Amino acid sequence: MKKVSSGKLKDYKAVNVYLSLGSNMGDRQYNLNEALRLIAQRAKLFEVSSTYETEPVGNPDQPRFLNLVARIQTRLAPLELLTLTKGIEAKMGRVKEDKPNAPRPIDIDILFYGDQVIKNRQLTVPHPRLMERAFVLVPLAEIAPKLIHPVSGKSAEKMLAELKQGVQGVFKLPGNG
Ligand code: AMP
Repeated sequence: MKKVSSGKLKDYKAVNVYLSLGSNMGDRQYNLNEALRLIAQRAKLFEVSSTYETEPVGNPDQPRFLNLVARIQTRLAPLELLTLTKGIEAKMGRVKEDKPNAPRPIDIDILFYGDQVIKNRQLTVPHPRLMERAFVLVPLAEIAPKLIHPVSGKSAEKMLAELKQGVQGVFKLPGNG
């Protein structure tokens, strides 16, 4: 078996992964770009959606977010990928807060890992709240409208069309694609 540069055994085929990135602290656009740059050091970055300004969900008493969705290909196993994304969040200054919806320089969620369904202590994939989040479904449907959720069997565009609260509070930033 060949070793790859990370020192991990090359057990995994390259898998399409969709990530949701959000920032609502500091220079939000810089934070998104920096997180993408750090992700691209370890994975192949394919599509990146437009950037959307979005009203905070859960705890409304905080600044608006910038959000986007990106497709990467990676050979990292799911938990290795989670370690990478958590490492980037920590490196970029995210402090573990008591409040789950506190402001943060960067938040990275794993939406889909191929068509795998994963549920363990650290990781639930597909992301359990993606179907109710306009700030995820709008950019996801922009880059992958036909992508099928492996549990519900619904496409990204169908999940978006079925959003109860619609897409209010999600605004595409001008001049970004
Ligand atoms: P949050 O504060 O919302 O970013 O949640 C972070 C925690 O959620 C991490 O400690 C992960 O272990 C856990 N988690 C579970 N499923 C996922 C997922 N699909 N993507 C990212 N984090 C996840």
